[in-house]
Amino acid sequence: MASGKIVKPASAELIQLTVQRTERLSPHWVRVTLGGGDVERFTPMGFDQWFRLFLPLGGEEALERVPPKANKALGYLKFLRIPDGERPVMRNYSVRAHRPADGERGAEIDVDFVLHGSAADGTSGPASRWAELCAPGENVLIIDEGLNFNPERGTDRVVLVGDETALPAIASICASLPGTATGVAIVEVPSDADALAFPHPPGIAARWVVRSHTDIPGVPALDALRALELPAQPFHAYIAGEQGLASGGRRLLVGERGVDKNLVSFTGYWKIGAASPASKAAREAASEPLA
Ligand SMILES: Cc1cc2nc3c(=O)[nH]c(=O)nc-3n(C[C@H](O)[C@H](O)[C@H](O)COP(=O)(O)OP(=O)(O)OC[C@H]3O[C@@H](n4cnc5c(N)ncnc54)[C@H](O)[C@@H]3O)c2cc1C
Repeated sequence: MASGKIVKPASAELIQLTVQRTERLSPHWVRVTLGGGDVERFTPMGFDQWFRLFLPLGGEEALERVPPKANKALGYLKFLRIPDGERPVMRNYSVRAHRPADGERGAEIDVDFVLHGSAADGTSGPASRWAELCAPGENVLIIDEGLNFNPERGTDRVVLVGDETALPAIASICASLPGTATGVAIVEVPSDADALAFPHPPGIAARWVVRSHTDIPGVPALDALRALELPAQPFHAYIAGEQGLASGGRRLLVGERGVDKNLVSFTGYWKIGAASPASKAAREAASEPLA
């Protein structure tokens, strides 16, 4: 679920990329750097730019069968015709960083994956497991989806709130804002070691909230938001992470604190106990009988 005002990508074509390298950043983070292939066709937009990622877990040949616009209703129906077991897994990820080509290397995109569960005992999701085990040379597809973070022109006071899945987006938003921006970024993480410092304008206070084993994901960040003395309005709020954090945070700001709903971007990035769904339009199309 996202608030209405999105910024569309420059292009929504399928883009083929290759894993260049991976780096284990902390207990729950692995960075996968993608490049090669069609990387020059990707237009970086900064902020919370995100994309659909297609992982060829049933074999790389299946990537050739992913139809254009597989993220939209009709394309998704065609995507579902790829047999189970061969059909790539589609998930949503953020651009943590983009580097243009320089004299030595082609353009690159860093994607930071949260490792949840464990590949060893089969408790992780397919994307998390793939990130933990992937190797240079593996191919994936992406479709750019643009931005959910879309403040009114000139707004540079922000309240950014997320769990670890939103850390890449929040870090990238901070890298994209003017150096004069002010406000606060609250980020919940599963351990101290996962609190990966990120550059931010000096006027934005970064607050880490470390979740304990007994906490429900998203609740500590929501509690921190509830306890926060909000900056003077107007500011633009961005809340992303576990569904309850995104919807609860919006309810708190709009319903209880009187923040204009148009100034709150909120997105459920994942849901406890549920595998990542396709877009609403795509799910609706898929639930209709085939003509
Ligand atoms: C716009 C957008 C941008 C996103 N950007 C990023 C990003 O940059 N980095 C990132 O790591 N994630 C990001 N996410 C979240 C990511 O898409 C989900 O966490 C996704 O469910 C992971 O897929 P999976 O195949 O590993 O698990 P799934 O198959 O989707 O889920 C399997 C099980 O794991 C649980 N699960 C899923 N994610 C988590 C988690 N993080 N912690 C604990 N349990 C979980 C589910 O509840 C389910 O029970 C983003 C989501 C959106 C919508």
